[in-house]
Amino acid sequence: MNPKHLMDSFQLQPKKSLGQNFLHDPNALDKIVHTADLASAAHVLEIGAGTGALTIRLAQADVQVTAIEIDERLIPILQQQIQDFPNVKLIHGNILDLPMHDLVGDEPYSVVANLPYYITSAILRHVLEAENKPQRLVLTIQQEVAERIIARPGDLSLLAVSVQFYGKPSIVSRLNPAAFWPRPDVDSAVVKIEVYPAPIVEVPSEAIFFRVVRAGFSQKRKQLKNSLGAGLEISHPEAAAIIAMASIDPTRRAETLALEEWAAIARVVAEKGV
Ligand code: SAM
Repeated sequence: MNPKHLMDSFQLQPKKSLGQNFLHDPNALDKIVHTADLASAAHVLEIGAGTGALTIRLAQADVQVTAIEIDERLIPILQQQIQDFPNVKLIHGNILDLPMHDLVGDEPYSVVANLPYYITSAILRHVLEAENKPQRLVLTIQQEVAERIIARPGDLSLLAVSVQFYGKPSIVSRLNPAAFWPRPDVDSAVVKIEVYPAPIVEVPSEAIFFRVVRAGFSQKRKQLKNSLGAGLEISHPEAAAIIAMASIDPTRRAETLALEEWAAIARVVAEKGV
């Protein structure tokens, strides 16, 4: 049923603070489910089930669905919506407080979600850093964030490197605010992230890799030797030497480095025990 009618019938108003912009455009919902290619997925995790429009489509695809929703007001609506679908498990909670292993165990799974935009980065980290990572994510997010995630060297950010370390992101479609009720103030995009079965760059450890990348991006528009030095709490000449040992020009800026170049610096940092 249409989210507005459902909310009206339960005498509820959407909460902006929880990113409640419900997707009601059937073409957009079809596109998301089609992109998720559920024939290949045994288990789907939906983050932020809302009033259940996407949940029901996923359930109809005959896969096991685990749907999380933080807003307890929406739980009775969701229970009503999924009553004919024994393959849906509904969990009331905050995704960021729920260990991924408790939700998905060790089985392969995909994540399909129309995300609450205010915590997009935190959710991406929570899911991609989990021990058991999804095989694929199909996410509706803010278009500007989607473009940042798919950026190439020259325009990279901490967010882009963090996502591209784990998987290959692409934009599959753009959604107009009219696809949602209430309409968000921003344009949206559906992003697919195909998670790599094994890391595509050789790193000493994920922790060292991300320590280096975070340090590199710690000072906007500064040369790498300055930002890395400040972020790793070493002198600029020391940082410049490490970067040069990785065969990279220390005067470059963080946004220009490719993943393999970050990995090369991380290897030197590990070798030198910095
Ligand atoms: N899936 C629905 C749809 O497509 O219409 C709702 C999407 S709406 C953009 C995001 C949903 O995420 C809201 O229902 C909101 O209450 C829920 N949400 C917000 N923060 C959350 C969190 N930390 N954990 C779980 N759900 C959350």
